[in-house]
Amino acid sequence: MSAPTVAWFDGALVPFADARVPIEDRGLQFGESLYEVVAVSDGEPRLLAQHAKRMSESAKLLGIESGVPLPERWQELTGELLRRERLVEALLIAQVTGGTAPRAHLPAEPPEPSFFAYLRPFRFPRAEEVRRGIRAITRPDVRWALSDLKTSMLLPAVMARREAAARGAAEALFVGEDGNVREGAASNVFLIERDRLLTPARSHHLLPGLTGPLVEGLARRLGLEVGAAEIPVERLLRAGEVFVTSTTLLVMPVVEIDGHAIGAGCPGPRGEALGALLREAWKLD
Ligand code: PMP
Repeated sequence: MSAPTVAWFDGALVPFADARVPIEDRGLQFGESLYEVVAVSDGEPRLLAQHAKRMSESAKLLGIESGVPLPERWQELTGELLRRERLVEALLIAQVTGGTAPRAHLPAEPPEPSFFAYLRPFRFPRAEEVRRGIRAITRPDVRWALSDLKTSMLLPAVMARREAAARGAAEALFVGEDGNVREGAASNVFLIERDRLLTPARSHHLLPGLTGPLVEGLARRLGLEVGAAEIPVERLLRAGEVFVTSTTLLVMPVVEIDGHAIGAGCPGPRGEALGALLREAWKLD
């Protein structure tokens, strides 16, 4: 995969190699930073306005909203990156940080936030990968209590995915102290019981994913009832189908959790159908 050639960096398009944050960047030193990963397929960014909104709403809580471009600006800068990189299938990676100031939890003068964005070539999973599905493990959710913010404090997710990989799995599902499943390290989790598609209710403990609601809309078209539920691990293990959703995995069936087969141990028909509908909508053939 070729390296990006350019990046947006604090308002200007610069060579990728020159897009560097100073060592006193507050995102780097304090984790004061939010990011978005946007799907690009058939040359079009998907759900761009929703990604812009999610970042700007969280940035208000962090006090760094002045660094987040307006929705129209996201369109322009993504268009410019796409023209430069000549990509039709890619991920747009965008991040806002608290900016750079002499290191202090509360700097005497709040710095200007920093914003950067660039494209990486990416191939979304197609029917072959979806037909294989993925294995998952469960892990205690050791993250902080505001996991609904898409901060770049991703170490728990990195460690959980590392543990998953060591056990031959591709995703780790975070479980709260109450025994209920919350979400994947980088995905939302869904199960199907008879004709119902269920996912944990929105809370501070999980990211309001953008792919999930889209898939829920497609599920209604397939005649499924859609709702929220408490999902103890045992309920997930008994489900007919389990899948995770994310910008990069789209709809990915989970065929095994902690060594227990889900359903028949292979992707179920509804997960596969929903994945196919999403690929169709996003022109990924
Ligand atoms: N939860 C977490 C923790 C994630 O990192 C992601 C991936 N961004 C998701 C859920 C899914 O969100 P989305 O559908 O917006 O990619």
